[in-house]
Amino acid sequence: MSLKVGLIGAGMIGLDHIRRLTQVLSGAEVVAVTDIAMDRAEAAAPANAKVFETPLQLINDDSVDAIIICSWGPAHEEQLLACIAVGKPVFCEKPLVTSADSALRVMEAEVTHGKRLVQVGFMRRFDADYRRLKSVLNGGTLGAPLMYKSVHRNASVPDGLYTSDMPLNDTLVHDADIARWLLDDEITSVEVRVPRRSIRGKDLRDPVMVMLHMSSGVIVDVEISVNVAYGYDIRGELSCETGIAALPNRPATVITDQFGIRQAVPADWRERFIEAYDQEFREWIAAASTGTATGPTTWDGYASTLVADAALRAVESGKVEQIQMIEKPVLYSEETIAVAE
Ligand code: NAP
Repeated sequence: MSLKVGLIGAGMIGLDHIRRLTQVLSGAEVVAVTDIAMDRAEAAAPANAKVFETPLQLINDDSVDAIIICSWGPAHEEQLLACIAVGKPVFCEKPLVTSADSALRVMEAEVTHGKRLVQVGFMRRFDADYRRLKSVLNGGTLGAPLMYKSVHRNASVPDGLYTSDMPLNDTLVHDADIARWLLDDEITSVEVRVPRRSIRGKDLRDPVMVMLHMSSGVIVDVEISVNVAYGYDIRGELSCETGIAALPNRPATVITDQFGIRQAVPADWRERFIEAYDQEFREWIAAASTGTATGPTTWDGYASTLVADAALRAVESGKVEQIQMIEKPVLYSEETIAVAE
């Protein structure tokens, strides 16, 4: 029997996930859609799916077993709390929420519920290249990790939607999460440096350089550039005691023409991470079909929100900003997660 899914937010990534669930993967069916704009929801809804006027109606409807949230970040908290209140598994696109207090409220609700329901959309953890990088590190042949470089470049961002804070409170969460996951470590402080502004970035703070200090002493340096024009370029390189390990330059079509021999760069995140999103949803469907969640947790969403908050403080203060985390609830401890998975 397939998982009956309701989707909130039929925008760019919402449409891509509907395509994924209806045309690529098995085991789930999109039975309900909602969006602030009803005409967008109606256009996106597969044949026979219901269209709801509000997220709360969709979440509470008996025909929906599990929910995918693809609305914008500030709307996530209310929608997550409503899913947890009715005990339905929920996949929430990043960012989990947009403030630490908001993350704590979601965590408290899930802990009180007593079982994991939330998976956060950190799709890099499902990418085969990142998984191989982590397995090389864990194999121990390169010694202890010392530094990690993370490069996050977008060709462009939509006009108007992207504010100056977004490289730090929306984009950085991916790099923060992958650093925590790869290094199996927490981020304790953050500093930000702002180089010369790109003329293509208009009034955005773009590019930015962020240093994440891990509790082990590893330093992670992150470049975020959101207007590089040439494509979507994601890089990662680990420096360890006796060697380095890096993500490969992804094999792509080799073009030979009057300009020379070159490899195409992915246009955007949909192309670069297409298999990672597919795998992310395979694992989500398997867990949600048993009424629970695996993968990136509410705790991971909370940690990345703290990093975003600290980065915003650091860009104002010019100083290293510390991160204070609450004690990790048992629900998110390695042992609990290992038993559940
Ligand atoms: P988008 O194109 O603006 O789509 C969001 C859709 O949700 C829009 O149709 C929007 O309507 C609607 N919406 C907003 N608030 C809503 C609410 N309260 N109830 C119902 N619908 C609502 O944005 P997107 O690029 O798809 O991004 C959506 C989310 O996915 C964001 O959190 C973003 O950070 C995340 N994302 C993740 C990745 C990834 O790599 N994992 C990539 C892209 C995006 P209006 O336009 O009228 O507000």
